[in-house]
Parts: sequence; C-alpha cells; structure tokens
Amino acid sequence: MLALSFLLFIGIVLVLAPPSHFASRVSAIFKQLGPIGTKTGLRPSVSVSRPLTTVAMAPQAFKKPPQAPPLFTGTSQSVIDDTKRIVEKSRSTEDKIVAAVKAQDATFENVMLPMAYDENDGGLETHIIGFYQSVSTNQELRDASTKAEEMMDDFSIESSMREDVYKLVEAALKKGEKLDAESQRLLEKVHKDYIRNGLGLPAGPKRDRFKEIKKRLSQLCIVFSKNLNEEIGGLWFDPKDLEGVPEDVLSLFAKGEGENAGKIKMTFKYPDIIPTTKYAKNPETRKTVYLANENKLPQNIPIFREVILLRDEAARLLGYPNHATFVIEDKMAKTPKTVDDFLGDLRTRLAKGGEKERKALTELKKKELTEMGMADSFDGRYYIWDNRYYDRLMLEQDYSLDQEKLAEWFPLETSIRGMLTIFETLFGMTFVEITGEDRGAISPSGKGDDIVWHPEVQVFSAWDSEDQGSGFVGYLYLDLHPREGKYGHAANFNIQPGFVQENGTRRYPVTALVCNFSKPTLKKPSLLKHSEVTTLFHELGHGIHDLVSKTHYSRFHGTNVVRDFVEAPSQMLENWCWTPSQLKALSHHYSSLSPEYEAAWRERAGEGAPKPEKQLPDKMIEDLIKTKHVNYAMFNLRQLHFGIFDMTVHEPKSHAEVESFHFSEMYNKLGYDVTQLDTPAQLGGGYDFGKPSSSTNIGVLLICYDRTRRNNLRSPPRGVRRWLLWLPF
Ligand SMILES: [Zn+2]
Repeated sequence: MLALSFLLFIGIVLVLAPPSHFASRVSAIFKQLGPIGTKTGLRPSVSVSRPLTTVAMAPQAFKKPPQAPPLFTGTSQSVIDDTKRIVEKSRSTEDKIVAAVKAQDATFENVMLPMAYDENDGGLETHIIGFYQSVSTNQELRDASTKAEEMMDDFSIESSMREDVYKLVEAALKKGEKLDAESQRLLEKVHKDYIRNGLGLPAGPKRDRFKEIKKRLSQLCIVFSKNLNEEIGGLWFDPKDLEGVPEDVLSLFAKGEGENAGKIKMTFKYPDIIPTTKYAKNPETRKTVYLANENKLPQNIPIFREVILLRDEAARLLGYPNHATFVIEDKMAKTPKTVDDFLGDLRTRLAKGGEKERKALTELKKKELTEMGMADSFDGRYYIWDNRYYDRLMLEQDYSLDQEKLAEWFPLETSIRGMLTIFETLFGMTFVEITGEDRGAISPSGKGDDIVWHPEVQVFSAWDSEDQGSGFVGYLYLDLHPREGKYGHAANFNIQPGFVQENGTRRYPVTALVCNFSKPTLKKPSLLKHSEVTTLFHELGHGIHDLVSKTHYSRFHGTNVVRDFVEAPSQMLENWCWTPSQLKALSHHYSSLSPEYEAAWRERAGEGAPKPEKQLPDKMIEDLIKTKHVNYAMFNLRQLHFGIFDMTVHEPKSHAEVESFHFSEMYNKLGYDVTQLDTPAQLGGGYDFGKPSSSTNIGVLLICYDRTRRNNLRSPPRGVRRWLLWLPF
C-alpha cells in the first residue's frame, strides 16, 4: 500500500512541478523512503521536537518574502465597488478583442492571451472578495461578499454567452497553431466550455432558456451555501440526558437562561454533534440528535429540488441524456457508466462485510443494554443513530482504543508543527511563522493586523529549503477554531492563485486552511482526535498542493484539476497518519507542554497516576493501527449511500421522472438499502421521516459545483471548495 502510494505520489509531483524543480523535490522524497518504508521499529524518522521557525529565528534568506501578503481590509462597500471595477475591466477586455480582431486573424496571442492575463489578475482580488463570506465576523461584510459573488456569477454567465468572443476563440482553435501544452489545453478547454454553456445552441428560445437556468442555478447555490454556513440551530438538553459525553465537550456548550435554565445547548457544529452522538449513553438522546440534525435546514429542501430539476432541464437542452453525463464527460471517469459500475462493484464487495460488522455491533448493543439493566428495551434492531456510539464502544472495548485518551498526545499546536515538519522534509520546504511586529514589517499597509482576517489566524511564509535554493513559494494561512458565521467544516481555500505575469515574472500563491477544531481551555490545549489529525493532514495536503503548483495560467493553478483527481494527493497523504513512525513523531503529550498543563493533567488524573510518556507509547500505536479496518465496510457503505444517491438523482430516464422524485424518501430508503441500518421507516413510519419538515440531510447535501465549475474564462476560478466532509452517523 505504502509503496504504491509513493509511486503515485511521485507521479503527482511530476505533474505539479516544472522540470527544473521536480528532480530535487523527488530526491527529497526518496531520502525519506528508507525510514518510512521499512518500518523498523517506531523511531521517529522526522524529529518534530524543535519549535516552529519564526522570522527572528529564520536564516537571512527567509526573512523577507519577495511578494507582500494580501490585505484583508475589505468593507461591505469596498467589495461591491471592487467587484464592479473588476467586472468592468473584464468586459472591456472582451470588447477590445472583439473590436480589434477579425475571425481570419484570430490567434492564441490576440484572443486567448489577453483574457488569460485578465483572469490571472482578477483572481488576485476575487478569491478574497468571495472568501469573506466564509470567514468574516462581520455580517454586513459576509452579505456583501455573497452579493459580490452573485455579481461575478452574473457577469460570468453574460460573458460565457458572448457569441462574438466564442467565434474568435473557435477561429483561433481552428488555426491549429503550434502551442505549448498548457496554452493548447487552455484554448481547447475554453472552447469546449462555450459549447457546454449553450453556444452550440441556435440563438432563440432554447438558448435564452438555457441562460435563464444558469442564472437561477447560480443564485440557488449561493443561497443554499449561505443557509448552511449561517445555520445556528441546536438542541437544549438537561445535562443528565447527555450522560457519557466528555466533560470538556459539555463545558463548551452554552448555558441556558429563562425557559432553558439548567439546560445546555448542543449546536449542530462538528465539535458538538460528533462527540454527542459518539458518547451519549441514552439512546433517545442519540435519536433526537440524529433526527434534529437531519431536519436542521428545511429551507434548503425546495432549493435542492429546484436545482436537480434545472440541472436536468439544462443538460437535456444541450443534448445530453441527463446531468450526470454532462458533468462526468470532462472528468477522468468520462461516463456515468464508469461511475455506476464502480459504485455497484464496491457495493457488492462491501455488502457481506457490512452485514458481519452490523451483526457484531448489534450484539454489542444487546450486551450493553443488558448490563445497563435495559434488556427489555432491546428490540433486536440496530439504528442509524446507534452507529457512531457502538462503533466507538467497540473500538474501546475490543481494541483498547480510547480516542479521548489518544487525543491527549495530539495537541493542535504540536501536531501542526509536526505536520509542517513532515512536509518540509518530504518536499524540501521551509515554513516561517510570521507573528507580532514581523507582520507589520511585510504588510503593504504597514499594519500587521491587516494581513489577517481574524486575530486567531496564523500566517506562514513558505520557501524552498536552503538545499533547494531558498526560493519563495507562497503564503500559508491557518484559521483553526469555530466562530459564529464561519464556514462550518474543514476546507482549503485558495486566496490568491499563482501564475506567470505578463512581464514574465512569477506571481506566488496564497492559500488558507479553514477548520473547526475545538478551542483550547485554561486546563487543556486543543486536542485532536486521530480522525481530526487525519483531517488536518488531508487539508494541509490540499494547501501544499496549492502552494507547490506552478502553472502559467491561474486557470490551472493548484487544486484546479479535474474534480475526480483533486482528492487523490490528500487521500494518499492520509496514509502518513497510519504510519507508526510518523504517529510517534507527531505525538506530544499535553502534560509535557507546560507546568500549567502538567498541573491540570495531574488534577484530572489523580495524585497516584504515573506521568504519561512524552510520545505516544508503542502499545497505543499498535492498538490504533489495528483499528484501521474495523467497521470499515460499514463506513464505506455509508459513503456509498451518498455517492449512489448523487448518481440516482442526476441520472433520471426522463425529465418527467425527475419531476416525480420524492427526494427525502429516496434518500432515506436508499440509505437503508445500502447500509441496512434501521431507520424510523423500519418502525412503520415510512421513509419520509422527520415530518412535517421532511427535509432529511438533503438540506446539506448539495454540492454546488455549478459555482466552482467555472465554465468560462471570464469567471475566475475561486479556489476549490470542498463543501462537504460527509458526516456519517
Ligand atoms: Zn479533500
């Protein structure tokens, strides 16, 4: 597995790095292969004990980046004004090309290149303008950011429908000039996008309808995501109903007043809901949480329905049999059949394992209820809301895996330091954290606060290491804790793309990780569960992909690769989180961080408890590794449910069929068919559970690739957004 991952990974590096660069990066990787690949004992192959490099500590070459970081000083007024200006500039670029070039004279240089430069420059501002809606604490600015994105999307649609520009692009393509590979790809892709945007349709009612649909889809996706980001619901619980949930999770829940006096509030955000469903002993609590979470966004249900209907209509207008065919055509998979076969094959292969796992988990449930004196309440069923709880219990009981205890060795700060060190060693890079006055020294405004969007945000300059030439690579931002109005999952956002500027010099990229790890308390740092360590590594993988990418055009920068490839590098990097030597290297028990933490740990653990080893003990590492495939079939069946549902709703036989779909029922029934986890339907309630709002998790399901699939050159790609990390119960 590991060796294969490495081979594939090296393949990626070859794609990402230009010829002059890749040889050294690859050699840096090979240097690492020995200790990691051979797994001789658990000695750390990368030492992470040193502190993060700061500007003061950094060698002279790494002190002052050749490119200033961006400013995050936008206001609700400025983002709208800037968007108008950017849109106007793009429109006039197109107008000028049309005025100056006749079809017979069209070339890559006089048609494509001016638009590519305009797109490159636009991306330096538009990604930030759009980013505010996910991270700003200011509601007005978030709203303005959303509005600005709508304006950009509107322009994008207008521009993508320009027949005059399309004709010139087509003429340039037909000229058949000899171009470098990236330019050729740009020309072909842009041409194809015009066709996919309806310009292959004759002018008239069909094309007008298509344009109308595109506009509407863009609006719907924006509202859908906004609802999702700004969801602030939750449930008030009597603390006794949350028995079993760890105290430090509960201590962060809001305390009720008035009618909720004596109660505490669990929100639907990950740091609340995941531990609650994993640890709450009361089955009724788990059921209540599950159903409420499934129904938390009823306002998104009609949007979901309308989107699916419009996507189907649009695909048919273009002559595709359905939306799935339209979307998959330019992916690696090429056809829905490839995807369906793949999912079907997985389903068959996983079914047996899933059944076995479910049986064992049901047995565990029976045993636990009996021990709790609740044998009477066992109805022989294993419900969907039981799954996280018993999966966790099995890992603890049968595999001695105590996730909470394990987390004590993964404080957020040292874990990040360790991960950056791994990337430094692996890719021959150096990260320098920019703090305090050093921020002011590189800020274009002279104010250090202006180069971050929130005081908690960390900034790093990234460099090639000294033996790789000490060249500047770009900026990395980390925004790690939840706050109101912030994007609720974990994702990597491109803030500014990299590209080659008109004058031939390089523009360096800026990338950000936006995550929601629980905040540190006085008595404990923020501690990461192993799954969170994996998530962080995964997202950091996207961030590094974004940083080390070198393309001529921002269109292809970083994670702007085909969507069925984009996860590959990060998923392969996750293997590191299952490698004993790396786990050892990353770990650092929080009691060894400071005397205060040691005292707090002592208070918790009791006087007689032996002080934990600084690094994760070998036995615990072995226990953890053993769990890698526990309940693996069940986990993957849950993922398959989402994938098969996605294909089902986007692959109707006719438009009439999609109109007849009852999405909530389909979603819940398919979930049962695939996973065999009991739902309220098995109790005779029907698959439309959660009435009257009957929303089900569809409220969070839509992946708005309509927004991120930038169909036209005039609409700068705003970074790949992973709208979802699935939340499997
Ligand atoms: Zn990812």
